[in-house]
Amino acid sequence: MSVTSTAMRSVTVAVGDGYRVHVGSDLAGTAVELVRHPRVAVVSDSNVAPVHARGVASALAAAGTHVDTLTVPAGEASKSLAVWGDLLSRLARTGMGRDGAIVAVGGGVVGDLAGFAAASYLRGVALYQYPTSLLAMVDASVGGKTGLDLPEGKNLVGAFWQPRAVIADVATLRTLPEREFRQGTVELVKHGYLRDPELLGVVGDEWHRAAPPERLVDAVTRSVAVKAAVVAADERERGERAYLNLGHTLAHALEAASGLAMQHGDAVAYGMLYAGLLGRARGHADLVPDLLRLVEWLQPVPFPELGFDRFATFMARDKKAVGGATRFVLLRRVGEPYLAADVSDDEQRSAFRELEELVR
Ligand code: NAD
Repeated sequence: MSVTSTAMRSVTVAVGDGYRVHVGSDLAGTAVELVRHPRVAVVSDSNVAPVHARGVASALAAAGTHVDTLTVPAGEASKSLAVWGDLLSRLARTGMGRDGAIVAVGGGVVGDLAGFAAASYLRGVALYQYPTSLLAMVDASVGGKTGLDLPEGKNLVGAFWQPRAVIADVATLRTLPEREFRQGTVELVKHGYLRDPELLGVVGDEWHRAAPPERLVDAVTRSVAVKAAVVAADERERGERAYLNLGHTLAHALEAASGLAMQHGDAVAYGMLYAGLLGRARGHADLVPDLLRLVEWLQPVPFPELGFDRFATFMARDKKAVGGATRFVLLRRVGEPYLAADVSDDEQRSAFRELEELVR
């Protein structure tokens, strides 16, 4: 089967007026059908602009849309007040009015930054997400969270601003560094643990950025369906959406302790293994062997030798800690997450010891 004949799938996100996530291969034409505005700004980063954003921009321009291409430097540092302010000024100079639209072509950084620009420029213009990293496809582009970092911490500024549509083009993954592909796989598999056991078998020899498009489309669609269901049940993160933080209590501590040197996927994989160990010790299903396989496949950076007490301090500081208790998302079994605020210091310490033995 040729790449272009890969069937497109879609998932509806039932938030607000509702929108669809289209998943397929080579979808610039789909963007032309969906993005119907007189003026469009295609926002991208310095890595993605030459390889993908220009193609999307040209397709839109060929269909008669006035297109401006705005590029920011690649990397997390672009999720800053300075780059956002500059982007707003550049949007203003294009003369875009309220009937314009922003198309974010890139990974989660571009999605969050361009999304926040869409939420704030002229008090809000239409947003389309065209994610090009696996993480952005299965996670960042779906659910409407947009935002920036401050020197004081990540994602401290932002707004909920839902896109009109998401166009997840798996053909763009071919240029994504394999390491980034693996990072995104962690969130994809995380969705499997929350609601779709089929996704747990995804990782293996045939799972890489240039895997057959049908396979990528199927797994991305399944993972998006989980995120969409969770987000629809809880748009503003008052309840169920917190389950998406599976593995994140330890992950945030690992990131903080490493001064953000550890990549998010690595940290979440270690964090999910830790949650598996905490759950197993409580008599829940034993997900540890499967989670360990995920960690081994990922080949994360080595687990830091900082000791439990240091991590406990960071975990207690996590934004999910309420009333002083560190909260963990645990799994009774695959598909049955719950929020545990009663994990004792002893439980945390002994699971941490097991984790250190497993990953060292
Ligand atoms: P990223 O956007 O920095 O992309 C990773 C790297 O891959 C970058 O260098 C980028 O230029 C490059 N890249 C992306 N697509 C490419 C492609 N197809 N070909 C070649 N290079 C490509 O990082 P990310 O992992 O995509 O996203 C991380 C960001 O997403 C973080 O800022 C995080 O806070 C945010 N995020 C947001 C949400 C949300 O709900 N809004 C959820 C999860 C993460």
